[in-house]
Amino acid sequence: MGKMFFVDLTRCTACRGCQIACKQWKNLPAEKTRNSGSHQNPPDLSGQTIRVVRFKETADKNGKVSWNFFPEQCRHCVDAPCKAQADMESESAFLHDEATGAVVPMPDSAKVDFEGVRSACPYDIPRKDEESGRITKCDMCFDRITQGMVPACVASCPTGCMNFGDEEEMQALAGKRLEEVKKDWPEASLGDADSVRVIYLFKEAPAAYFEHAVADASRTMLASTEKTQPARNISRRDLFQRVLRG
Ligand code: SF4
Ligand code: SF4
Repeated sequence: MGKMFFVDLTRCTACRGCQIACKQWKNLPAEKTRNSGSHQNPPDLSGQTIRVVRFKETADKNGKVSWNFFPEQCRHCVDAPCKAQADMESESAFLHDEATGAVVPMPDSAKVDFEGVRSACPYDIPRKDEESGRITKCDMCFDRITQGMVPACVASCPTGCMNFGDEEEMQALAGKRLEEVKKDWPEASLGDADSVRVIYLFKEAPAAYFEHAVADASRTMLASTEKTQPARNISRRDLFQRVLRG
């Protein structure tokens, strides 16, 4: 069991309400950005932006433009490679909460090799707060969900794109919506549904949304650096297999 998000991308309008609600709840500052040729703003995740709505704009041979929007966040992996990597140096760097499944960076995340942890993530999610040195990413709004509330992004979403609840309920909703969407979009799929707690419904191939929309196992292999010591409780082979299993 545990908690889960279901993100129905067919319903995202890129209003960015979730991105703002995340900043407000987490008391994260705005960032100075510039126009980089896209409506996406800011251009990437950062120590101050742990949730970003990505925009992918494509034009067909007739010049007809279409958009895909991808509200991105940590996927709260069932077996979290970021935590497995950090555990090699400090088992208190990340909390993996048993009841909810949330993967939460802790103050001791400042003590571990950030680049190793970022490389271990198959979705390229972790970032670092330069001031504190702590690793930053979505923590599932751990303070809210343990008080019976939904995450701030879910509370703010006006379209039904963001959903949150018990794992079984979200899996059932995801399966139902997949069947409905497939009638018009035969290529529709649920991304990495067995290995994460944030299930995205794609109507097109995931690469049409973002390069790291689904897991890239080769990124986890990058985490195997010469500097790190072998894991105490998990081998690197196990680590790769966990990601590939999804
Ligand atoms: S998506 Fe990345 S940061 Fe989030 S739990 Fe999985 S490995 Fe960790
Ligand atoms: S609030 Fe909902 S509709 Fe708006 S950008 Fe976020 S996920 Fe998309």
